[in-house]
Order: sequence, then structure tokens, then C-alpha cells
Amino acid sequence: MTDEIQVNGECHCSKIEIEATVKLSEVRACHCTDCQQMSGAPLRAIAVAPANKIKIKGIPKEYIKIADSGNKRIQAFCPECGSQLFATDMKKTLYNLRTGFLEQKNELKPKTHVFTQSSMSWIKNKLFT
Ligand SMILES: [Zn+2]
Ligand SMILES: [Zn+2]
Repeated sequence: MTDEIQVNGECHCSKIEIEATVKLSEVRACHCTDCQQMSGAPLRAIAVAPANKIKIKGIPKEYIKIADSGNKRIQAFCPECGSQLFATDMKKTLYNLRTGFLEQKNELKPKTHVFTQSSMSWIKNKLFT
């Protein structure tokens, strides 16, 4: 079985469409407080695609998040419906696609969970015990 799969999806209003090739072994869920706040959800799952394996139709709005360390990351979302699409570095070399808008989301099971110190207690109890 190959580790790479083709994924595709669109934002809620269909203004932005994205296709990419991602590695199943690199799907992860982030429980950090930035992800919680920006997604409006208790955690955020991502699948990683290099720049040469992603096609974006439409122009996402970009918000630059500055971490406490000073590190900057682009957070992209649909300017119309606000669906979160991906995060990437300032040079746009690697894209972290939000799995929630991808049609293959059921296959994109997180292999790792990061920043679990800030995960909800009811998620911790379910996932890590
Ligand atoms: Zn939209
Ligand atoms: Zn996070």
C-alpha cells in the first residue's frame, strides 16, 4: 500500500478548490491553543503537501500569524465563507492542509497528536488512555 494519496476539496462556498498529494504517515492533529482559537474547534487536523504537489484554484485570503518565538506562518482561508484551508511557511514550500474540507478526510486519520498538553480533557480521556 502506498503512503501517498490524492486529495481534493473545496471551501464551503465553493470559491476555492484545492487538489494535492499528501502522505498518510504525515497526517497529524494539533491541539495547540492557536489551532483551537483559529479553527473554532477543539483541535485541528492537517495533511502535509509540498508546493509542487498542490493546486489551488481561487485566491485564498492570508493571515500572518506571529508565534511567541517570532516565527511567521501564513494561515489561508476563503475570503467569502471563512473556511480554513491551509497554513504554510513564508516561502510557501510546505502546505499543511486542513483535513476538514478534503473529501478524503475519513482516510486522513492522524498518526500523531501534538501539543496535547492543551487538549480538552474529554479528548485526552478518549484518545490517550
Ligand atoms: Zn468559500
Ligand atoms: Zn496547532
